[in-house]
Formats: sequence, C-alpha cells, structure tokens
Amino acid sequence: NTEKTQIKPFSWYPGHMKKAKDIIVNNLKLVDVVIELLDARIPYSSANPMLQEIIAGKPRLVALNKSDLADTKVTKEWVAYFRQQGIPAVAVDAPQGRGIKQLVSMTEALAKPMTDKLVSKGAKPRAARVMILGIPNVGKSSLINRLAGSNKAKTADKPGVTRAKQWIRLGGNLELLDTPGILWPKFEDMTAGLKLAFTGAINDEAIDRELITGVFLQTMAEMYPDRLRERYKLAGDLPSEPHELLELIGRKRGCLVKGGIVDTEKAQRIVLTDFRSGKLGTVSLDMPPQDDGMAEDEQ
Ligand code: GDP
Repeated sequence: NTEKTQIKPFSWYPGHMKKAKDIIVNNLKLVDVVIELLDARIPYSSANPMLQEIIAGKPRLVALNKSDLADTKVTKEWVAYFRQQGIPAVAVDAPQGRGIKQLVSMTEALAKPMTDKLVSKGAKPRAARVMILGIPNVGKSSLINRLAGSNKAKTADKPGVTRAKQWIRLGGNLELLDTPGILWPKFEDMTAGLKLAFTGAINDEAIDRELITGVFLQTMAEMYPDRLRERYKLAGDLPSEPHELLELIGRKRGCLVKGGIVDTEKAQRIVLTDFRSGKLGTVSLDMPPQDDGMAEDEQ
C-alpha cells in the first residue's frame, strides 16, 4: 500500500515551506547569529536540508537538544564533528537546563565579533541578537522557556519593527528573539524520515505505524539489542523478523486479545512510547560522518 507507507508528513506543502522560509529570512535580518537546534539522537535526520542556504552566511551554533535521551558517547562525537567543521556545538537538555549556561556563553562569543565590528564602524554598542531555528518538536519552545525563565525581564519591543518582536535578555550582552524559526523536516530522505517518525517529530497519524515500528525494532536489534532484552525481559538471540520480535514483546507485555493473539497495534504503541520517553535508555540513531574526506553531509 504505497499510500500508507508514504513518509512525507502531510502538514508540509511547498507553500508552507516557502512561508516558513520567508518568515525566517525576515527575522534573520534582525539577528547576528543563529542557534540551530537539532535532536541529539538524530542530528543528521533532524537537520533541515536548506539551512545553510536560508541563513546565508550568518554565524551558526549547533545545540544538540534532548541529550538526556541520546547516547552520551555519540553526542560527544557529534559535538567534536561540528567543531571540526568550525561550527561551535554544545549538548543541551532544555527542560532540565543542562548545557544552557555553556550555550549562552558560546553564543555570546560567536556574536561578539559581529557587534564589535559594528562598534568599530561607529555604531552605538548594542547587545548581540540571536534566534533559534529548528524543525517541529525538536524543543525550540522548551529552550526559549528555559532561557526566558531565568531572565524574566524582557526588553521592550524594538522601535521601527512593524510586528512586535519580543527580545529576551540573556546574560550581559545577548538578546534572544522569543519566536523561533520553524523549519520543515528532511522528508525526501526515507531513512531520515523514518528516524524522525521514531522520535515523534513527524505526526504518527501521517505515517504507517506498523512500518515504522518494524524498522525501529530492526534498528534497535542491530544497534542496541541489550536495551530490548532488558526492557522486555527477552533472553538470548532476538528474532530476526521484526514482526516476530514485536509479537514476542507484545506477549511479554501482555498485549493479548481473545484466543491469545497479540494485539500488535497496542504492542507498537508501547514500543514507540517507551523509546520516546527514554524507557529504552539513551539511544542515538545517527552517527557523525567518518572523517574519510568524503563527508557529503550538508552540515
Ligand atoms: P518545538 O516544537 O520545537 O517548540 O518543541 P517543544 O519545545 O514543544 O518540545 C517538544 C517535546 O519535546 C515536548 O514534549 C518537550 O517536553 C520535549 N523536550 C524538549 N526538549 C527536551 C529535552 O531536552 N529532553 C527531553 N527528554 N524532552 C524534551
């Protein structure tokens, strides 16, 4: 059923993408640097494919959010990878506030040359301005709330800007635009689309849950088999067929209907909910490109 296995989330049409891009491009004029928010579990898959083009040379910093759900070792490798590319990067956990201080100081450092340059050209010294960009569900609002929480006093609206822009003062010399830029996800890439679906970045209603749970279980069985064994009390070799694995998990979790048949839909929901809520432990599904001189990733 090709219609059902379609991954493309129906909520993004070319018109939506253009509108989202236009809003961002407008707001970009107001800021000195951007924070690209990625999901630490899937830094490649959660990146917007046109980001570089959209920000057109604005200095960028990468914040790997939801690092509490990602494999710490892999997140460190990603941070190192971005830094190697000359892009400052930091792992954060917006709700708990981990990495936030470092994020603020790194953003200040990144923006300083820009504001210094303005002053050297005779402009009045002003705070550096930053905005957050990311795909839906990556944690933009959580991060803004976290940053605003300790900096309740918002600065006044900027005169001369048609729509009221609220700026949140961060630290001594930095202001954050309180509206994030919402980017569309990378849905042309099937594998990335599946990973976005696992993490819940793409609405479940738009996708085939049977397909994504199957691929998810296969991926977990390859990359993190012990997590499945621990969570669902499975011993020994895991079935190589994802539907058999799902059935086994369903049985273990008592998802049975009349006649002892496994309620696979219920089992699918359990598996995905367990993953999304961290009950399968810390998991990273994208690895940084190996440094073989062939990194074709657009990052
Ligand atoms: P937005 O659509 O990018 O604004 O994303 P939200 O800020 O609304 O966050 C989407 C979901 O992810 C919410 O349920 C948040 O509570 C959750 N979330 C955001 N950041 C983190 C994080 O660092 N760790 C965890 N575990 N959950 C997070």
